[in-house]
Amino acid sequence: MQPFDYIKPKTLDEASALLLEHNGQARPVAGCTDLLIRIERGFVHPQFLLDIKALPGMADLLVVRNGDLRIGAAVTMNQVALSPTVQSGWPLLAEGCASVASYQLRNRATVGGNLCNASPAADSAPALICYGASAHIFGPDGQRKLPLEQFFLGPGRTALQRGELLTAITVPAPARGSAGHFLKLGRTAMGDISVMNVAVLGWPDADAPSGTSWRIALGSVAPTVIRAPEAERLLSLDSSPAGLEIASQAAAAAARPIDDIRATAAYRTDMVRVLTRRGVERVLAEISG
Ligand SMILES: Cc1cc2nc3c(=O)[nH]c(=O)nc-3n(C[C@H](O)[C@H](O)[C@H](O)COP(=O)(O)OP(=O)(O)OC[C@H]3O[C@@H](n4cnc5c(N)ncnc54)[C@H](O)[C@@H]3O)c2cc1C
Repeated sequence: MQPFDYIKPKTLDEASALLLEHNGQARPVAGCTDLLIRIERGFVHPQFLLDIKALPGMADLLVVRNGDLRIGAAVTMNQVALSPTVQSGWPLLAEGCASVASYQLRNRATVGGNLCNASPAADSAPALICYGASAHIFGPDGQRKLPLEQFFLGPGRTALQRGELLTAITVPAPARGSAGHFLKLGRTAMGDISVMNVAVLGWPDADAPSGTSWRIALGSVAPTVIRAPEAERLLSLDSSPAGLEIASQAAAAAARPIDDIRATAAYRTDMVRVLTRRGVERVLAEISG
């Protein structure tokens, strides 16, 4: 493996300045579960790794004054998945983070690393998108905030500019009475990256003809995690079994998967239909029950 220097900046300004000075040659690093493999395989050759874990705010996991959940970029998957606050307030996110790899890996893998790696199979992203999360970014021009849906530009590509790093994610409190489920298809029962996944969030809504409103996000079936807006719309009109079948087909129609070593595009598309239906059924049972 090509050698690199390990630097532990003390402030966000210092980290950003180092990223800017060594553009392309310096990489932020948190749990290193993605980056080290890429270095070892020779896909990337950074000269400097900037450990961001001890930077101010990176380890925050708390509810802030407006009721949003604030997750520092270096908070691990296990910290989120095992947090009673997240399990009770944002259960869909706890499910997504709990589905990542193994217990050992979740002790190192961070939410920020998962998002910045920008894999369409990133298991924390669909839940965060359903909840309407925002990415908090620090860079040479200070702080900025971006809806998480706009953070992903393609496989391995994010909206981060030169000298910028992700500092936190904020997640609004979901609507009262909401329920959500994350359904993941992997090649093994545990420890595998998603072949595809579906996150479903529903909540009672007196203004919706079906009495419920919906957000559905699909992973590993397009270049980025995507929403299925037509399926969401159809479900808000009709969430009867017949309506659910039509909405699940609309979710499948939103998918733009590829064939790869994990599955064919046709299989992924059909599993979007199946898992969307299953997820919505579970959410409906929870909301009404
Ligand atoms: C065996 C194995 C199984 C896995 N299974 C899953 C799985 O089931 N589901 C899943 O979603 N993922 C899985 N992964 C992928 C990986 O573990 C996750 O993506 C993890 O969350 C990455 O976090 P990290 O802290 O280790 O990231 P790192 O490796 O530290 O960083 C990842 C990338 O993000 C950048 N980065 C990190 N933090 C920041 C920041 N704050 N600002 C800007 N850039 C930053 C780095 O420069 C790097 O490019 C698996 C990996 C392995 C090795």
